[in-house]
Amino acid sequence: MVAPGLGSFLVENRRSRLGIGHVRYSTAGGGGIQNAQPLVVDCNKGRLALAHNGNLSNGGKLRKELRAAGSIFQGSADSELILHRVSRALAQGREGFLREALAPLEGAYSLAVMHEDALIAIRDPSGFRPLYVGKKDGATYIASETCALHAVGPMPYREVEPGEVLVVDAAGESSFFLEPRLPRKACVFELIYFARPDSEVFGESVHRSRERLGAALARLDSSGGLEADLVIPVPDSGNIPAIGYAREAGLPFDFGLARSHYAGRSFILPTKDQRELAARLKLHAVPEVVSGKRVVMIDDSLVRGTTSRIIVALLREAGAMEVHLRLAAPELKWPCYYGIDIPDREELISNRLDPEGVAREIGADSVRFLPVGGLLAALEKTEGYCAACFDGNHPFAPATGEKDPA
Ligand code: SF4
Repeated sequence: MVAPGLGSFLVENRRSRLGIGHVRYSTAGGGGIQNAQPLVVDCNKGRLALAHNGNLSNGGKLRKELRAAGSIFQGSADSELILHRVSRALAQGREGFLREALAPLEGAYSLAVMHEDALIAIRDPSGFRPLYVGKKDGATYIASETCALHAVGPMPYREVEPGEVLVVDAAGESSFFLEPRLPRKACVFELIYFARPDSEVFGESVHRSRERLGAALARLDSSGGLEADLVIPVPDSGNIPAIGYAREAGLPFDFGLARSHYAGRSFILPTKDQRELAARLKLHAVPEVVSGKRVVMIDDSLVRGTTSRIIVALLREAGAMEVHLRLAAPELKWPCYYGIDIPDREELISNRLDPEGVAREIGADSVRFLPVGGLLAALEKTEGYCAACFDGNHPFAPATGEKDPA
């Protein structure tokens, strides 16, 4: 089974009773077939396959150490060094060599591993990335998000706990826990943007969380006295916070922007021209909805501002009287070292400009962000999150000068 992130299945008495798959979002190490996952090796610990969601913030340093000690790397992804560390571990037994291999890792790793006849789910002690385990008809499934488990059918599931190493084999299930380095640091951006809305991550409903972020924005605007006629989302990632905003503000909600579903996520495209073209191909204003209206437009977050500038222009061309951009996230100002590909700081519009400056640059009447405190207060669990790309409080700093090759 393939999940957004990673997934595995174990089925008795079938030709393939064990398997893992992964669509890797290439951050550290870049793309290329040599980095495709799962990575498969035959070493002194037996046959291993590994799929890795996340990024090791000290991956460059560990890779350098391994290379100096004689390791030969096939690819450039940080995931590969985990296998080298397993192979070089001196401790005996699966628990011993996994503890030894994983102990110095810093940053984010949700792992699906096949070792001989066992399926192993591993989540880093800070729990940056989500990881779930479910059971159905005698099979055990692990996946980054619960939407992948729902695809198999209804099943009971639970989070793989931060630091948990869950081993599933013919003898059944057992867990042990890695030493915690820090308190829980779940990536709050998963709830804002990355996770699918029909998923649960970190024990929270993604859909309900996004509604609450929108409602929190509406409360800020109501105390600031904003007057508007209509709430529209930037589809699709703005849809759910826009519903929450409109409900809280008592304003009508409508789709003032039509989205082509054949265009992907423009945020992920590598060049400015590609992103601008993608935005124009993806989104069109609907004059019948926005003409003559004071529009509150909701988006999940603001990265470079490229798409927003185009959208504001489209809405004005379609007759919108005012356009007020509201973001269901704080100002994005810092890089991420834990698996989300945020552009260089110089490219982040909120690193250069305050909200008034952003409004001027994108041509909006006003821009407002949800502050970090408001974001965390709107979630069900209000503690234990990483928000470093917004507040600069990175739980693990990158080892300077030893970044993974991009
Ligand atoms: S820095 Fe931002 S994107 Fe990265 S793990 Fe923390 S909250 Fe998530």
